[in-house]
Amino acid sequence: MIGYGNQGRSQSLNLRDSGLQVTVGCREDEYAARAREDGFEVLAPVEAAAAGEVILILIPDEVQPGVFEASVAPGLVQGDALVFASGYNIAFDLVHPPSFVDILMVAPRMIGQAVRSCFLEGEGYPCFVACEQDASGHAWETALAVALAIGATRGGAVEATFLEEALIDLFAEQFLWAGIVRLFRTYYDVLTAAGCSPETVATDMYLSGEMVEIARAMRETGFFKQMELHSQTSQYGQLSRGDRVIGPQVRQVALEILDEIRSGKFAEEWTREQAEGKPHLARLKQGAFAHPLNRVEERLKRTAEGESP
Ligand code: NDP
Repeated sequence: MIGYGNQGRSQSLNLRDSGLQVTVGCREDEYAARAREDGFEVLAPVEAAAAGEVILILIPDEVQPGVFEASVAPGLVQGDALVFASGYNIAFDLVHPPSFVDILMVAPRMIGQAVRSCFLEGEGYPCFVACEQDASGHAWETALAVALAIGATRGGAVEATFLEEALIDLFAEQFLWAGIVRLFRTYYDVLTAAGCSPETVATDMYLSGEMVEIARAMRETGFFKQMELHSQTSQYGQLSRGDRVIGPQVRQVALEILDEIRSGKFAEEWTREQAEGKPHLARLKQGAFAHPLNRVEERLKRTAEGESP
């Protein structure tokens, strides 16, 4: 296991509980200390990769190319399998494994913490599995064995490709979530400018937790069918105004964003941004954290804790 963060820790614990022997490859810092506390043997990444037969690369996507070249590639031998949890670096040609290893993906559709809690509670969560290179002749068996041992087959291991996973993941981030966050900001800005108090708007928008319940109902009842849980006024409002909110020009933007991802243009831009020390990301985050919502949250939190607002 290379990396002991969100996914690395949960997957290591699940693999061990499924009867597999796991060695963790980590730099000497708090992650390594945590892995030792959890009872794992911890080696330097280069030693762990050389010792492992099935090598899971669970470090952030952006550091994988450098760590792979320096610490994983030197120890690879015929018959080894590399397992990624996202398609990004293989899909956009940023990591180049040799031809004699299996290149696999087991990508949980679940945050790291819940990969562990679902496993412990016996619940399922799905994953995408892919095989980019079958050098051993039994690569698919290895991928499915990893999926089974981390508890992901309980929710369904769905066959995919590295590119598919990368497109779905990045497009969700860059179109779906980018759009949802923008809509929420506009909702807040328009209502507070119209005289509604920041506290009532923020509470209604997400602090109440109603949104979580709607997401749960979408999953359990159906994406559209959950609408029956809302009043008819709400149903009519949602259905009659949606096309005006998201007009045809949004589809054009969606296609442009998807094209930037598919062509590798976004991956190039992000690689450049990282090489320059991420100045654009820092500016964008500064802008987001300057939004008044941050102060409203803090005020409401202090009030909830009993301090005067
Ligand atoms: P984390 O950010 O939690 O990974 C942290 C780990 O990576 C630590 O062990 C850290 O150790 C190590 N690490 C970071 N930088 C370096 C470096 N330069 N050299 C060596 N080790 C380093 O990652 P995630 O678990 O979030 O993501 C891992 C993979 O899982 C990614 O491919 C991601 O796309 C995928 N994934 C993540 C999901 C999630 O919920 N987070 C969901 C599904 C897939 P150190 O202190 O030494 O830096």
